[in-house]
Amino acid sequence: MTSAPPPAPVPLVDLAAQFARLRPRIEARIAKVLAEGRFILGPEVEELEGALARLTGAGHAVTVASGTDALRLALAAEGIGPGDAVFVPAFTFIATAGTVAALNAEPVFVDVDPETYTLSAADLARRIERVARAGRLKPRAVVPVDLFGLPADYAAIGEVARARGLFVLADAAQSLGGAAGGRRVGTLAPATATSFYPSKPLGGYGDGGALFTDDAARAALWRRLRHHGQEGEAAILLGANSRLDTLQAAVLLAKLEAFADELAARARVAGWYDRALPAGVVRPPRPKGVFSAWALYSVQVEGRDAVLAGLAAEGIGARVYYRTALHLQPAFARFGEGPGSLPATEALGRRILSLPLHADLDEATVARVSAALARALGRARAAGPATPRSAGTSPRRRGSRAR
Ligand SMILES: *Cc1c(COP(=O)(O)O)cnc(C)c1O
Repeated sequence: MTSAPPPAPVPLVDLAAQFARLRPRIEARIAKVLAEGRFILGPEVEELEGALARLTGAGHAVTVASGTDALRLALAAEGIGPGDAVFVPAFTFIATAGTVAALNAEPVFVDVDPETYTLSAADLARRIERVARAGRLKPRAVVPVDLFGLPADYAAIGEVARARGLFVLADAAQSLGGAAGGRRVGTLAPATATSFYPSKPLGGYGDGGALFTDDAARAALWRRLRHHGQEGEAAILLGANSRLDTLQAAVLLAKLEAFADELAARARVAGWYDRALPAGVVRPPRPKGVFSAWALYSVQVEGRDAVLAGLAAEGIGARVYYRTALHLQPAFARFGEGPGSLPATEALGRRILSLPLHADLDEATVARVSAALARALGRARAAGPATPRSAGTSPRRRGSRAR
């Protein structure tokens, strides 16, 4: 008995396809670094910083060793430390809150807007008041996250932060290339951190990150902090070894040439999904005037874990970002208020599911993923609800602000 071979698996991201497309220019860039031999802070690092400043429109771009270091150095540069409260979402990657705790400041978790999945300005205002009233911590900063590539609502968050004198650091690890209100990511907050982790919209072949600001003094401080706090021969403040490798800068310069086309391709894939997905699947938010970098295409479905298993059985590389919000994770539980304290965040953790998305995905494959999702959803429904029906229908879904 013969049967057709199973269709090829569909990976969440496909770095091999991208390499096949960009190989000559990446290899030429790497060969140049090997020939020049300036592996630390070589000319490619400066060239990349210039290109990143032009890409974002920010006055200054400072590269560092990772997105995590970008967040940590930016907070350290503001003098944030013990006794300080830094407001962060819990529906994010570990580093958003981990960097706060690493400086011995305290992450204070804020719920997300159920419509956009990004930090709720209204909940931020409430939590700042509570921290201020309790008096144990000084409200110092807020780190909104551009989740899945969609810029947070910096207009509303900035208003709350200004009224309270809080520093705003954008965690744009997932959103480089995005925009809001006619301004690009990198200029939406006084300081912005991004990541070049391989699977991010602009990814290197290893770790890397960058910071953006219009403030020359702040940029100069970041440059010092990434290089042992050194100025001339003297260590004038406590810094770190957090430089971006010249080799990574070379890879990123090669990929940057294709970045605009890749962003357009990612947006096109997202549009195909929007049209092809079955009913009952909540599409990603598309607030007016806000443009995602489409780091991930994430939907909400009932019976998420059964759907995920159904997709895996068909070779579809879907994944869950983020199943367990930070306030419910062992390392961060002591900063949070336990289950039930962030209702919109917790509801999303039960329903969210990210589908394959990258610049080399074609429409036929999107159709295949969508059909597999429809089958998995049908099977999950037939098997009965795995989670209570009310789990995802947040009471605030309807009445949330328009953007
Ligand atoms: C990837 C990511 C980071 C950390 O970036 P690294 O370069 O991996 O250190 C921080 N925040 C968010 C939201 C991320 O997705």
